[in-house]
Amino acid sequence: MRNTVDMAGIPVDKVTMGEAVEKIKGFLAEDRVHTVYTPNAEMMMEAQRDPALKNILVQADLLVADGAGVILASRILKCSLPEKVSGIDLVKNIFSIRQERKIRFFFFGSRPGVAEAAAENMRKAYPWIEVSGCRNGYFSEDEEKSIVEQINSSGADILLVALGVPKQEKWIYAHKDELKVKVCIGVGGSLDVFAGKVKLAPEFLRKNGLEWLYRLCKEPWRFKRMLDLPRYMLFTLSARLRGQ
Ligand code: UDP
Repeated sequence: MRNTVDMAGIPVDKVTMGEAVEKIKGFLAEDRVHTVYTPNAEMMMEAQRDPALKNILVQADLLVADGAGVILASRILKCSLPEKVSGIDLVKNIFSIRQERKIRFFFFGSRPGVAEAAAENMRKAYPWIEVSGCRNGYFSEDEEKSIVEQINSSGADILLVALGVPKQEKWIYAHKDELKVKVCIGVGGSLDVFAGKVKLAPEFLRKNGLEWLYRLCKEPWRFKRMLDLPRYMLFTLSARLRGQ
């Protein structure tokens, strides 16, 4: 049974990091595909504009709040989420799971060579994981069938999809019925970080909900998209005032 909070029509799971990891362990024991997304304020705002993305989030098996913006919005809506569960930390915690049978991960997405470098680094950091395959995130529509076949024949348990938002969520949704993995997770720029190509914001900024400031300095061209953070706050305030 999911314990979710309704955030303007999107059911975000009321889970701590530990509980999210437990849920994923449960998914691994079930014989079907599960979808996991990690919305931040930008994705939540985008979902309000894009009904297809909203529908995908509504149908997810696990939605965790990736970012201080979503936590703050949950407080504005008086349905506090327990803590931020960022996608990258969630994936690291999943890598940390040690069980008798090795969990097999498929790294899908990012520029050519990045998934392989990320997989190599993660195999060194978490020697108990198995990497079943890698594939870059640049492909034509004709190649999609063979990508699904590559993932399925690799025997992966968990598929990490790094195609950026909302491409990764839409790709997972479009292919989930053909995939034989147990869990698909949209991981955004995480493979770039695992590969050592991109640095995470310093810990004190991440802890204090100021990651956006670091991103703004590093990637100023994201400015327009980042306006979705204050937009989402205003949207949430107005939803609260309208009693939604
Ligand atoms: N990416 C990809 N295919 C695409 C577009 C993007 O593999 O067609 C990758 C990109 O190389 C990067 C990742 O998606 O590694 C995440 O991109 P972005 O930083 O835009 O992530 P977001 O902020 O949307 O999570």
